[in-house]
Amino acid sequence: SLAEILAATHNFNPKLLIGEGGFGKVYKGTLESGMKVAVKRSDSSHGQGLSEFRTEVTVLSKIQHRHLVSLVGYCDEGSEMILVFEFMEKGTLRDHLYSRKECLKNPSAKTELTWKQRLEICIGSAKGLHYLHTGPDGGIIHRDVKSTNILLDEHYVAKVADFGVSQQGMPDPNHISMGFKGTFGYLDPEYFRTFQLTNKSDVYSFGVVLLEVLCARPPVVDSPQKEEINLAEWGMFWQMKGQLEKIIDPLLASHINLNSLRKFGEIVEKCLKPQGADRPNMHDVCWDLEYAMQLQQ
Ligand code: ADP
Repeated sequence: SLAEILAATHNFNPKLLIGEGGFGKVYKGTLESGMKVAVKRSDSSHGQGLSEFRTEVTVLSKIQHRHLVSLVGYCDEGSEMILVFEFMEKGTLRDHLYSRKECLKNPSAKTELTWKQRLEICIGSAKGLHYLHTGPDGGIIHRDVKSTNILLDEHYVAKVADFGVSQQGMPDPNHISMGFKGTFGYLDPEYFRTFQLTNKSDVYSFGVVLLEVLCARPPVVDSPQKEEINLAEWGMFWQMKGQLEKIIDPLLASHINLNSLRKFGEIVEKCLKPQGADRPNMHDVCWDLEYAMQLQQ
């Protein structure tokens, strides 16, 4: 109930604010039962925000998976909407890849992930996406796969979050969607050109995440024109194919197994193929990542 949400977050006390998304603020809260939650409150000035929240509720109420963030409850007040999620203690995957400066300031807050931990996170999120693509209602396309939408619980178990722009049911291939969704830097170039949405667009975005995990570098893109730069940037990956060691996160260099690295490089390469039809599905990606894990053991 609204009363319980207000109590859990001490009336949305700004001290409990943990994040701000495009359409609302996220607060940390504790329910009466003691369960920790993340409470996402829509910004009432955003009409689109409300529709994203409703999509999220519709999608999340149908699905349940170890690797998808679960919705604990929600409250629809008409002009405002509040979503209550399980709390993800270790924050976003991106936090662990790039906030090294913070690490030094507060070494206990963040950890530098080992290659095995990173592979485990990739495998978990791939399983979450595979479930989403093949699950109820003929599948769901996430449409905004990126490292800030992969959250980690206290044991570093990865869960895919943020279903606000997802699309239910595999779309009719003849239908061209005019509502352009996603995040530059992660956008499938084929979708960008044709506006034809398939689950292979998520596979492309996931390939970008894999590359981030490997290189600990973000895709530096924020506008359509710069999408080209992004491709050029990842072009570096293609040139370095034979010598992947040169682009990896220096923190991994001391312990990564070369065969595991090569296998991982192959997976990235397949996910980033320009044509969706040439990319693997998430099931194959899961298999290949498991194999890269075996090679690291
Ligand atoms: P965006 O719209 O930018 O994807 P969200 O509104 O979903 O972001 O979330 C904003 C921030 O709040 C996230 O980057 C994350 O740090 C934090 N956050 C969101 N959901 C949770 C959660 N379930 N547990 C812990 N932190 C969360």
